[in-house]
Amino acid sequence: MAEKCFFDEIIECLDTQKDKHKTIFVQHETIREFFAEKAAVSKPVQEKLSSQPIPEQRKMSAVPAPSIKPPTASPAGKIAVENLSLNELRAVALNCHLCKLHSKRNTVVFGEGNPQAELMFIGEGPGMEEDMQGRPFVGAAGQLLDKMIIAMQYTREEVYIANIVKCRPPNNRNPEEDEAAQCLPYLKRQIELVSPKVIVLLGAIPLLRLLGKTGIMKLRGQWDEYNGIKVMPTFHPAFLLRSPEAKKDVWRDLQQVMKFLGKVYKKDN
Ligand code: SF4
Repeated sequence: MAEKCFFDEIIECLDTQKDKHKTIFVQHETIREFFAEKAAVSKPVQEKLSSQPIPEQRKMSAVPAPSIKPPTASPAGKIAVENLSLNELRAVALNCHLCKLHSKRNTVVFGEGNPQAELMFIGEGPGMEEDMQGRPFVGAAGQLLDKMIIAMQYTREEVYIANIVKCRPPNNRNPEEDEAAQCLPYLKRQIELVSPKVIVLLGAIPLLRLLGKTGIMKLRGQWDEYNGIKVMPTFHPAFLLRSPEAKKDVWRDLQQVMKFLGKVYKKDN
């Protein structure tokens, strides 16, 4: 039997609720229904996802970088990005050879989305599909992330998605400490420029590299902070593909984010 996707059910219920109540999004009864593991008809959302238009920024992700002179690396080997705009930063990153990951990559996966997004997702690094397409989260885990985003009542175009490292680690291994350290200035500048209200960290690697913390099992679902921005650590969608029972934990975490961003209507009784 095909696996029932938790987020498909949420999306289906959201669609139903929207028809019934134009202003109410997720009702308490709906959430309770999900947590009760009541059997429900799962409806694939692939049509919905594939019918979404690709915005210019997404189309441009794999386009060769314009010729912007790369800033020189400091003696410590860190790139100077403080004064760069998002477009300039992208152009520099697409030419980056700062760490050893550059040698095996096909493309640099800079990140994409709304440059004024209130919600930002950060993963660990590009996989094979992402490396081929030059876009973050486009493989199987990316499709699940798309469902999570829709279940949160956003579109992919409304949020911003990036990774700790912008080039694919070989064999999908975790980014090493020196690679993350070299690449992090790009991400930190992206965060500074996008200035989201909430960052969702997807998995143990972003938790470690951005916040310097270990223990995703314990820390997921607990609000943290990065430079005054609210941060919610949760599981990586790739982990959810292996452990679908954890989707409900992630939904709890995402509900907190939605509540903070005014996206959820939830009665207390
Ligand atoms: S992973 Fe980051 S630091 Fe390393 S080469 Fe790619 S863009 Fe440069």
